Amino acid sequence: GPRQVRNAIFTWVRPELQKDPELLAVSPRAMHDIGLALSEADTEDFKQTVVGNKLHGWDEQTLSGPGYPWAQCYGGYQFGDWAGQLGDGRAISLFESTNPKTNIRYEIQLKGAGLTPYSRFADGKAVLRSSIREFIVSEYLNAINIPSTRALAISLLPHQKVRRERIEPAAIVVRFAESWLRFGNFDILRARGDKLLTRQLATYIAESVFPGWESLPGIIPPDSSSSPPERNIPPQEIQGPPGQEQNRFCRLYREIVRRNALTTAKWQAYGFMNGVLNTDNTSIFGLSLDFGPFAFMDNFDPKYTPNHDDHFLRYSYQNQPTIIWWNLVRLGEAFAELIGAGPEVDSPEFISTGITESNQEKYVPRAEYLITSAGEEYKSLFLSEYKSLMTTRLGLLSVQPTDFDKLLSPLLDLLESLSLDFNNFFRRLSTNTLSTILPSPKEIFFPQDPDVPPTPEHIQQLTTWLQTWKTRLILDRGENHDETLRMEEMKSVNPSFIPRGWILDELIRRVEKDGERDVLKRAIHLATHPFEESWAGKEFEGGIQYKGDEAEEKR
Ligand code: AMP
Ligand code: MG
Ligand code: MG
Repeated sequence: GPRQVRNAIFTWVRPELQKDPELLAVSPRAMHDIGLALSEADTEDFKQTVVGNKLHGWDEQTLSGPGYPWAQCYGGYQFGDWAGQLGDGRAISLFESTNPKTNIRYEIQLKGAGLTPYSRFADGKAVLRSSIREFIVSEYLNAINIPSTRALAISLLPHQKVRRERIEPAAIVVRFAESWLRFGNFDILRARGDKLLTRQLATYIAESVFPGWESLPGIIPPDSSSSPPERNIPPQEIQGPPGQEQNRFCRLYREIVRRNALTTAKWQAYGFMNGVLNTDNTSIFGLSLDFGPFAFMDNFDPKYTPNHDDHFLRYSYQNQPTIIWWNLVRLGEAFAELIGAGPEVDSPEFISTGITESNQEKYVPRAEYLITSAGEEYKSLFLSEYKSLMTTRLGLLSVQPTDFDKLLSPLLDLLESLSLDFNNFFRRLSTNTLSTILPSPKEIFFPQDPDVPPTPEHIQQLTTWLQTWKTRLILDRGENHDETLRMEEMKSVNPSFIPRGWILDELIRRVEKDGERDVLKRAIHLATHPFEESWAGKEFEGGIQYKGDEAEEKR
């Protein structure tokens, strides 16, 4: 039953047995990435494994084996306040598995598999509705190159009913990630004052979670293989206080900072909002993690939050970069003992510093200094990645120093004041030639009756921006550049399919109320092929009118 756990950061726990589970859908892309043939999904073994009925690595006869399922213990700051012990209340990890082709190791986990010591007052179950949302969005984020936990399969539990606002069907999503560790894993250890486990956990991450990172020279530049040379961000080295090198844990902390800077930049560039960026929902590995009331930006509104309980807009679109940094500072505080150490990890200097009046441990000034400099690194890496992604979405081949002020910032102002759809705007730039767009922006960007009809001034502002964009395109691609190539390149980074709230609502209704099954397969196809030309127009009819290669929303 629920309990406060001591001296541990996980508990062995077995999933509940499930009667007559129905495998609703798998993600073929996830099957591939984890190293399974698609045909595996038809086996009884697979069907029983993905709901936790069959354990791998555990012999039921001898009650022994290398693997038994477990649930993690973590804490968290929720909406800025310390919330105490949380943990995997309805998630149970099954085993680890390495794809022999890629050598990537994943931790396979069930969501909604029953009670754990961390369930607190809840039931350990997940409803079909939120399971479908997680299944689709995990795979979608991955498909648009945003690091995310993955979803392999979703199963319906016909005999389980879950009480939420109403009685709802229950489901299990089997999901996987290179790491399920969250900032909250360190928060709980800090709250307990457990320095030994803090160090053990950090060591485990350094040695087993980010394999290879320590052998890389100095600072690790963002992936340079996939982007043209001019987008490379020059490595910047943070200097420690004079005469002191950075120790391993300081470098590990900065690695976590960098991963989160890059992922947050991607969220901003594609208008993704998690909605509940508490520290227990922020990933050590830099993944998008824990999908509750998430949403993608529709009409551009930087103050938007998909979380209706978020009255202070803490987790709104425009606050996400600041909040992830806030979370990283909490992580830095938990790391302070370690990163405040001298160059030798076991240096006696590592024991700090005394207790303040508020009974908090005071960390050494060196840690504070390093957290602050990591903050500079976070800001600059976030900004360069964001600019790089946004200019790529605009079809440019470079980032110029004036692009932010002259092109990106005016674009966002324009999208906001004209109530234009954030992602559709980029797709429309990608699917039309300049000679169509420039003379008739009204027809291109306001093809339906919009909420806010554009005034002539609006159209003038739009035209002005489009001319700036054209000039920038010509600077990068030349006066008579190949428009077909430009449009192909832009279409490959500007999705046609966005898993918008109303699409997910319709999908859920059709699976749950109408008993449809194939629609889920087609939806996961759309989610994993989001750049393809023709999409949901035919599939999701509610409010949609299919129109050439674009689907238009009619509210
Ligand atoms: P979340 O809002 O999803 O980040 O969850 C916050 C905490 O509540 C985590 O520790 C979850 O494991 C736990 N929790 C949420 N829903 C349930 C549930 N239905 N059963 C058990 N624990 C839950
Ligand atoms: Mg959570
Ligand atoms: Mg959750």
